Amino acid sequence: MEKKFFERPIINKINAGIPDKFGMGNQLNPISTIDGVAVKDLIAEHGSPVFVLSEKTIQDIYQDAYQAFSTRYPKVQFAWSYKTNYIDAVCRTFHKLGSWAEVVSGFEYQKALENGVPGNQIIFNGPDKNEADLRLAIENASLIHIDHFDELYLIIRLADETNKRPKVAIRVNMDNGIYPQWDRFGFNYENGDAWNALNRIMLSKKLDLVGLHTHIGTYILAPFGYGNAAKVLADLAIGLDRKYNHKIKYIDMGGGFASKNTLKGAYLPGSDTCPSFDEYAEAITNALINSSIDPENMPVLFLETGRALIDDAGSLLGSVIGNKRLKDGRRATILDIGVNMLFTSFWYEHIVVPAQATSKYTEDTTLYGPLCMNIDVIRDAIQFPSMKIGDQVVVKRVGAYNMTQWMQFITYRPKVVLIDRKGKVHTIRNRENIDSIRSLEVVPDYLK
Ligand SMILES: *Cc1c(COP(=O)(O)O)cnc(C)c1O
Repeated sequence: MEKKFFERPIINKINAGIPDKFGMGNQLNPISTIDGVAVKDLIAEHGSPVFVLSEKTIQDIYQDAYQAFSTRYPKVQFAWSYKTNYIDAVCRTFHKLGSWAEVVSGFEYQKALENGVPGNQIIFNGPDKNEADLRLAIENASLIHIDHFDELYLIIRLADETNKRPKVAIRVNMDNGIYPQWDRFGFNYENGDAWNALNRIMLSKKLDLVGLHTHIGTYILAPFGYGNAAKVLADLAIGLDRKYNHKIKYIDMGGGFASKNTLKGAYLPGSDTCPSFDEYAEAITNALINSSIDPENMPVLFLETGRALIDDAGSLLGSVIGNKRLKDGRRATILDIGVNMLFTSFWYEHIVVPAQATSKYTEDTTLYGPLCMNIDVIRDAIQFPSMKIGDQVVVKRVGAYNMTQWMQFITYRPKVVLIDRKGKVHTIRNRENIDSIRSLEVVPDYLK
């Protein structure tokens, strides 16, 4: 019998949605205004591309988060995570709402002071605090969250030298059921380092141990991880009370709540999978109120939420530069928005929407940025209508990390504007220009 021909089966991934009986439908409703201001006017006035932040969205989301925690727990304090977006106007918007400042470098610390945050309302995190930073933080009675033993010994020495009692907490990492487990920051619970640090602090008698801190990771989709972490911090607090009769003033659960952005490769959109603030609050506050912490001395619950508070408030507006066909026939559209300003496109499938009415027919399209860099891809595959040169687009949910992690590569970082509650547009960071960039360069005489 003749051997039958075997052909290896292949599975082709459908990259961008499934066609219905009318073909590939266009589910993209154009976004032509932001808080009542026309996208085309924003671009005409402020250039393309331009970041737009919404004060209304910041306030609405903050209220939502604050309510979720404050209805479940007696004392709640948010501290704005500077590294998530440290444009002064954004920080001040959060401070006006009642947020303290959470900083992770001397630069951010300086920014918080200059934004008018009292020293004792600044939380200083991170592994890199140099001696000058620490002296300043001690002087200002800021809350210093110790990351490692060398830092602890340095603070003890500075306490001697300054004759002050630094206010400190330790950062704790632990197995809370979330993997990969972050163990590079702070002191590990299971290996005993957390207790070693607490005992050294208490026995030194030179530091004022005011709190316990953890930051279990970022974009955490499982609230139970926070519940487990809060239980560990509550146990440490109870242990300190028992052993030293010492009551800490706060438990800081860090940041890390997911935003509604969709991670690359995720099966369901982030808007469906992202837990609500209520779910996070339930996990954390249940762990604290059900612990054996003395009910008369419940610690304040600090939260350093970053991305979940600001992502939705930011949009990036841009324009189409051109179109082309790739080798396999796929359409590519080139935008003036690149990964230099949209760092988060490396891990999110950002929602990109036309800003004006388009054809209802869409096609599997790759969206490229303008850089001469092969990895400058905003979306690998998106169902997109045909767009002409100069047509405008809106990228949604870009408020977190882009305005701090952006890089200055071959062109200028764009302008950032804030739309206030009344619909007035304010420039809060100017577009860079040749002078702002060259002002830091120095040409040696022999090259002049
Ligand atoms: C980055 C960071 C935050 C904010 O994290 P999000 O994931 O943006 O909420 C909070 N606390 C610390 C210590 C951080 O490093």
